[in-house]
Amino acid sequence: MQYVSTRAAASAASSSPQQFSDILLGGLAADGGLFLPSAYPQVSGAELDAWRQLSYADLAFEILRKFATDIPEADLRALTAKTYTKEVYRNARAGEKASQITPLRVLEEGDNGTKLVLQALSNGPTLAFKDMAMQLLGNLFEYTLAKQNAELNIFGATSGDTGSAAEYAMRGKKGIRVFMLSPHQKMSAFQTAQMFSLQDPNIFNIAIEGVFDDAQDMVKAVSNDLPFKTKQKIGTVNSINWARVVAQVVYYFRGYLSATTSNDQKVSFTVPSGNFGNICAGHIARMMGLPIDKLIAATNENDVLDEFFRTGVYRVRKSAETYHTSSPSMDISKASNFERFIYDLVGRDGERTRALFHKVETHGGFDLSGKPGSDGDEFKLVAKYGFKSGKSTHDDRLNTIRDVADDYGIVIDTHTADGIKVARENLEPGVTMIVLETALAAKFNETILDALGEDAERPEGFENIEDLPQKFVVMKPDVEKMKAYIAANTGL
Ligand SMILES: *Cc1c(COP(=O)(O)O)cnc(C)c1O
Repeated sequence: MQYVSTRAAASAASSSPQQFSDILLGGLAADGGLFLPSAYPQVSGAELDAWRQLSYADLAFEILRKFATDIPEADLRALTAKTYTKEVYRNARAGEKASQITPLRVLEEGDNGTKLVLQALSNGPTLAFKDMAMQLLGNLFEYTLAKQNAELNIFGATSGDTGSAAEYAMRGKKGIRVFMLSPHQKMSAFQTAQMFSLQDPNIFNIAIEGVFDDAQDMVKAVSNDLPFKTKQKIGTVNSINWARVVAQVVYYFRGYLSATTSNDQKVSFTVPSGNFGNICAGHIARMMGLPIDKLIAATNENDVLDEFFRTGVYRVRKSAETYHTSSPSMDISKASNFERFIYDLVGRDGERTRALFHKVETHGGFDLSGKPGSDGDEFKLVAKYGFKSGKSTHDDRLNTIRDVADDYGIVIDTHTADGIKVARENLEPGVTMIVLETALAAKFNETILDALGEDAERPEGFENIEDLPQKFVVMKPDVEKMKAYIAANTGL
């Protein structure tokens, strides 16, 4: 399996092929594009039938081996077996089996043949779906670094979910340190406690005096110093990482296979979306031949994606136009994985993809509606890829959290509420609608309290997390100080 950049000229694509392990530890391709396989591996009906009975770990192995062809199969099997265990995904709730890793729960079967199902992706250590991919990434990184006798210092900024998922995936891993910046006293008490209570010597929490953008600017400034970056072996784990996307492909297969008994049954997915990483994995599963009917992107008030899927216009927002909402992990101004879908939509034309995303830089977006003066007419092909969208507001979230608690007796988080709201608008007779549950309610308790007048239930072990001793340093946004701190702790 070879990988190409979404911006590569047709000639360049064949001259510099890269393998899975080559792109595992990196981010963007050298030309600024994102990596994708040169062709999607295909899955036959017979394979799907055989996969119905597999455990999650074995299914993950079967899918990953098609993408990571340069990792010996026995090693890959050991890595998936170690990652997807009921001990890691132990936060399953009453009525769910931890051994299923991403258990399904039927919420409603309508008289007219509609069916609404929730797929739990948030039973891992940080109670959000980012664990599904990040836990595998931790094990893949450790394995690859050991083989190369190399080390890696992960450096990033977080406002919540990504940073904690990265720390829980990398804690205690040989050859890896994590330096994670967060805005001092700006995260919720729960999120702060989750990260700062880690005592592992390879985890460094740095609270920056300022807001998230100050922390993000520090990461950019340090990363722009290439000699420093190379000497300190600095890398990232952001949402464009290919291995993260591919790990997420697995739960679409698991969801489809668990919800059906034969491959002619129809299933759609509604996906609470921000950076388009999660739903991009659904697109790839569909391109591999998984019979997904519709892929529905649910956004909050930050509706960049909903706008595109309604109109064909992709218009990124300025930071002043970005809302701080009660589903904060979807508060994005642009969708960093969207380029992967656009590359497929424009017929895998790297030069055209490069021109469109250049226009994002210079003009803040592009228009594929086919109207006079637009940049193309490929919007008319979007339906062929199964995509639809919808949007939800703060009031919708409160109402949906209440409805779901009343009707089905479970408490969902705010991001999942955006998903359920949009899924309900798109139910069709004869099609099972799976909503991906992207976090557990305990993570966003403030809004649960507003909606229900009571606290969300906390999984076992999280009861007194705010009282645990915390390990972190507070720093002014000073780039030289930051570099000195990193160098002092890596000894490089
Ligand atoms: C990251 C995140 C999302 C958005 O996922 P994308 O891959 O960025 O589209 C949705 N919900 C939760 C809880 C998240 O942490």
